[in-house]
Amino acid sequence: MRKQIAAANWKMNLSYQQAEQLLDAILSERPTLSGHQQVLFAVPFPYLVLAKSEVDEEAGFAIAAQNCHDKTSGAFTGEVSAEMLQSMGIRYCILGHSERREYFGESDELLARKVDICLNNGIQPLFCCGEALAIREAGEENAFVQRQLEASLFHLTYEQMRQVIIAYEPIWAIGTGKTATAAQAQEMHAHIRSVLAGKWGQDTANAIPILYGGSVKGSNAAELFGAPDVDGGLVGGASLVAQDFVQIIKALKS
Ligand code: PEP
Repeated sequence: MRKQIAAANWKMNLSYQQAEQLLDAILSERPTLSGHQQVLFAVPFPYLVLAKSEVDEEAGFAIAAQNCHDKTSGAFTGEVSAEMLQSMGIRYCILGHSERREYFGESDELLARKVDICLNNGIQPLFCCGEALAIREAGEENAFVQRQLEASLFHLTYEQMRQVIIAYEPIWAIGTGKTATAAQAQEMHAHIRSVLAGKWGQDTANAIPILYGGSVKGSNAAELFGAPDVDGGLVGGASLVAQDFVQIIKALKS
């Protein structure tokens, strides 16, 4: 079975002490994961070391960064490179989150470079895509998401693409409490998989996890994750509540 992933995106939340408590609470309650299940915590940069030391002994648990710079090193005050992440043993990084596209002006071209630098450093990108409400209302969501994939991923080789995790996050569902239905998520995930198959072939497309993100909660995770092409979730708000996130982990396909 494809990897099934529950990924927590803490964004810019929690004090150091709260972060420690949250990880402790989740790890003490967590169910044992089966071989194809994985839990990721995308934590703020200053908490990477703490989080990594907390989960290092736990099979199936790993830490992700929420972003990285597109250059190797240099005079970029305040930035963090993929090489730095790699040197700390971080193996995953969110790229292209809609908040970074919107508030930090990240373009498809910049994201293509970030994907490359992550892969060159042995870091698997969690590549986010997804449409705004106006695009969905105009019925253009499939074409829009396809363009995002083409612009930032279509230069990758088969081997590189197999290292990428996709997160479909309709912008209208992020942090709004408004969730895509399981049918809407399935429809878009199947579309994304067919776009991947068209470029890299069905075997590669079948191997790539496609996560859903947008107001996933303990109460709706099982229904969303039950859709055949939904391979888990990228979770913002509910990942900050131990009980909720544990329920989300338990909802992964077994
Ligand atoms: C996210 O930020 O990736 C996200 C999906 O947030 P939320 O779960 O709060 O909608």
